[in-house]
Amino acid sequence: MRKKIIAANWKMNMTIGEAESFLKDFRLEIEEVTGVEIVIAPPFTALPKLSELLGGSQKVRLGAQNFYFEKSGAYTGEISAAMLRDLFVRYVIIGHSERRQIFGETDSFINKKVLAAHASELKPILCVGETLEEREAGKEKQVLETQLRGGLAGVSAEQLVETVIAYEPVWAIGTGKTATSAQAQDAHAHVRAVLAELTDAATADKVRIQYGGSVKPANALELLSQPDIDGALVGGASLEARGFAEIVKAGV
Ligand code: 13P
Repeated sequence: MRKKIIAANWKMNMTIGEAESFLKDFRLEIEEVTGVEIVIAPPFTALPKLSELLGGSQKVRLGAQNFYFEKSGAYTGEISAAMLRDLFVRYVIIGHSERRQIFGETDSFINKKVLAAHASELKPILCVGETLEEREAGKEKQVLETQLRGGLAGVSAEQLVETVIAYEPVWAIGTGKTATSAQAQDAHAHVRAVLAELTDAATADKVRIQYGGSVKPANALELLSQPDIDGALVGGASLEARGFAEIVKAGV
């Protein structure tokens, strides 16, 4: 049985004060919740405060939205895996479509981050997903396969089990347009089939695959009820404590 994983990707939102007040409200909302893994990925600036407030909590894990794969050195503006580990960060989002599209990250660059994350015991949340144009051209499965093979090159079966894949169709991100549960399930089943080709069926069966793209309280349960949807990566709707808590509860 795969434990569901519901993650908040706050993107470039939330000051330290806002993050602190979110956490206070959110913890009250999820007091009774068990059996689901919760991750919050705030901007770097809010990580120290949340880390201090969470104090190594098992219930809410910390994630980062990015890092650089080199250990240290002259990389102005970058953050290393060790710096994240210092703050008890457990997960790191890698290859988000915004990083691919706005910052030009390629599959081979993303792959270096995936391997470096594992080497530092950070669990990657590897994002994959097609654009609207690619879907309309009937190429979505091909795109997913290329991104998975590129991003996961050199990842062992043991490491794959510790990797989370997030299927985020680009056309559904921040648009209010969610993939139907059937479209999402179909893509997730394909992702799992590719993972099985990369390793074996038993390994692929253990990997958690999140859906991301306009997840909200109203559609979370339906999406999370699909057999291959093992969680959600939530943007906009994760900025409000009660709404995000409702999504978390849909994963129980
Ligand atoms: P939205 O939930 O705002 O569509 O964003 C999804 C996303 O990109 C999460 O990483």
